[in-house]
Amino acid sequence: MNERASGRVPTDEEWAAIAANDEEANGRFLYAIRTTGIYCKPSCKSRLPNRSNVTVFDNAGQAAEAGYRSCKRCKPAGERLPDEEWVRLIAEYIDAHYVEPLQLQTIADACHGSPYHLQRTFKRLTGVTPTVYLQQARLQAAERLLQKTDWPIAEIGQEAGLPNTAYFITLFKSATGVTPAEYRKNFAAERSSNDNEVTNR
Ligand SMILES: [Zn+2]
Repeated sequence: MNERASGRVPTDEEWAAIAANDEEANGRFLYAIRTTGIYCKPSCKSRLPNRSNVTVFDNAGQAAEAGYRSCKRCKPAGERLPDEEWVRLIAEYIDAHYVEPLQLQTIADACHGSPYHLQRTFKRLTGVTPTVYLQQARLQAAERLLQKTDWPIAEIGQEAGLPNTAYFITLFKSATGVTPAEYRKNFAAERSSNDNEVTNR
């Protein structure tokens, strides 16, 4: 467990807010109790823990990553979506933004989570990392464009979020077994042979 994941020592101000169940401090930080493995909002009315057992996090994601469970009483993660819903939103975000140069951090910022938590949750529910999902979305977009347009390969890559043409071709070939140009040729040949079958009948 790294230092960030284990939280930090509460400041005097934070401790005072915890002791006073200060509603005003909600949203500024969360505190977790090492002995119970639970994390709370500053305003939680639960019994005041021993200060030495308290560790502070900036948000629910960090506390969850560090292995703490949210308090049933103050529901510090109450505003958080269920994981299935969250992962669906992440996938939708990627589907809508694959053309942009997306980093894991960008996706995490847009979807309100830490990159680590997002990566882990997404992989657990979908079987692939967000990065692999993004790559698949780009390759599928490229396939659609190769089927439907006669745009140059470089432009297809650009529109699929893979503006480095050499990289696009390499990636496409490693995923499909053929280059984008070959893919287009094969698709056209297949379609015209299908057309012929229809007309010959
Ligand atoms: Zn609580």
